[in-house]
Amino acid sequence: MRWSQSFLVTLREVPGDAEVVSHQLLYRAGMIQKLAAGIYSFTPLGFRSLKKMIEIVREEMDATGAQEVDLPILQPKELWVESGRWDRYIDDGILFHLKDRKQGEFALAPTAEEAVTDMVRRSVTSWRQLPFNLYQIRTKFRDEIRPRFGLLRGREFLMKDAYSFDLDAKGLDAHYRAMDAAYRSIFRRCSLDFAVVQADSGAIGGSASEEFMVIADTGEDALVFSDAGDYGANIERAETGPLPEPWAGEAPGPFEKAGADVTGLTTCEEQARRLSTEKARVVKTMLYEVVTAENLAFVAAVMIRGDVEINEVKLPKALGGLHAKLVSEEKLAETTGTRPGFVGPIGLRGADGREIPVHVDRSLANAVNVFCGANEDGRLHAGVSIARDVTVAAIVEVATAREGDPAPVGTGTLKIKRGIEVGHIFKLGTKYSESMRCEVADQSQKSVPLVMGCYGLGLGRTLAAAIEQNHDDDGIIWPVPLAPFACVVVSLQRDAEVIAAADRIYERLKAAGVEVLYDDRDERPGVKFKDADLIGFPVRVVVGGKALAKGVVEVSARREKVKHEIPPENVVDAVTRTLAAGAKSLVL
Ligand code: ATP
Ligand code: MG
Repeated sequence: MRWSQSFLVTLREVPGDAEVVSHQLLYRAGMIQKLAAGIYSFTPLGFRSLKKMIEIVREEMDATGAQEVDLPILQPKELWVESGRWDRYIDDGILFHLKDRKQGEFALAPTAEEAVTDMVRRSVTSWRQLPFNLYQIRTKFRDEIRPRFGLLRGREFLMKDAYSFDLDAKGLDAHYRAMDAAYRSIFRRCSLDFAVVQADSGAIGGSASEEFMVIADTGEDALVFSDAGDYGANIERAETGPLPEPWAGEAPGPFEKAGADVTGLTTCEEQARRLSTEKARVVKTMLYEVVTAENLAFVAAVMIRGDVEINEVKLPKALGGLHAKLVSEEKLAETTGTRPGFVGPIGLRGADGREIPVHVDRSLANAVNVFCGANEDGRLHAGVSIARDVTVAAIVEVATAREGDPAPVGTGTLKIKRGIEVGHIFKLGTKYSESMRCEVADQSQKSVPLVMGCYGLGLGRTLAAAIEQNHDDDGIIWPVPLAPFACVVVSLQRDAEVIAAADRIYERLKAAGVEVLYDDRDERPGVKFKDADLIGFPVRVVVGGKALAKGVVEVSARREKVKHEIPPENVVDAVTRTLAAGAKSLVL
């Protein structure tokens, strides 16, 4: 492709709303444009990279035996009511929905469990027709709260979504493992540094779920790894081994009701300093409003050491609910007679006079001689021994993992890294097949719901994540498999000799099957170099008068940025070898 004949415009300016590097660089490289918040167009250059991604995903999915389908994006409300997702998704505000001329309501698909389950239940009646895995690569819509990270978080975005159907858990397991393997080869083929971590599977479901994370400092997710290499989890669900206990081996002292005066000090930090004790000994008691799957609401208290935070993703399940949110300060005052910082577990009663159940984080189970709120402004009880002084409803595990905590398995210590979720595999079980009656007759002619898995992968997000991981001050450094063009040929002058030489190299590279962009524009060399670095072609060939006079041209790898002078007739070899080796450095 000749630049002079293509629709390709780079920009010097960064748009004001582009906060993340991938957004800035994709925009400046002329690969995407914003149509509205979270809605992007791909230009011809950008679409080339997206198509690469699509092809990689399709090849790897097909290789597992999964079959491609094309499910409607516009989906009737009735299906969504049947699955039970309509109200929840409307409440969450995530669903784009609309009415037709007859007032019929429709959703723009954020995923396609309903549509695919409907397709299957219409045509499958017997266990003999199983198993299979159906996938599509299609646009999804979600009205994200903060669509401000470019392709990382769009409101319209491209996702590969697959849905497996089996008779039993064993079959699901096999599909799940096949998807895990396919995802690993997809991200390996994209040359990405990624990790697979255990993920939160929500309060429903509860079966296995893993996320594929591209490691990048700019990632929205915090990931917890054991330095022994045998544990990785999203911090949302990460566990720790037992924490070191400052009270280990101590005999419980007497309970001091009047305890300590910490007037005006509401944080554990300040209170611990005033009391000259460790933060761990200043115990926080928090009140949560819990809502169960049956829509029952109750208030529960949670106690945790002052040096540890409550993990609010793990919390609802631990309290026996679907959702849990902190009670408002007004309600807290009504219930306890005091404000945050001074709430405690002893004698806690709700407005109805009933005792509020007190859940104690595992890290406090053996605690003795600690402080906790006295339900009186400015006052803490002292000498509290949890088992002796507190009526414990349950010991729960709701601590947020911290860097340096012991790993939950093995002997390692936890480290925290940041990552971008690019894929998610999930054992759904029978959630949709039960609510939507997607059943078959099993071997004994009994009607059973199918066992499903779902597997999502964001294509645009993966491209953006590749840039978050691979860039420098000058621009993108495309991994070869995702680059819009593998190579750029730059002609420096307009004289006949340079043009003839550059034309020849361009033609030869094309003939050798290299995807090459020929920068034949009438522009200054500085402009061409800047653009080549910005777009991030893995290999660059520069043809200029001075070098030609010496019988050479300049070739360099974008990542290495070291110029090598080589005779024009060796360029094709050097370029193809370099690309085959991943273009980390030039291979002569
Ligand atoms: P997140 O937690 O980042 O919002 P999610 O858990 O809602 O993502 P899934 O429902 O698991 O995402 O979707 C499967 C995949 O689709 C994700 O792993 C991600 O790659 C991609 N994806 C999800 N939401 C978006 C979005 N708004 N923009 C681009 N890609 C997305
Ligand atoms: Mg997810």
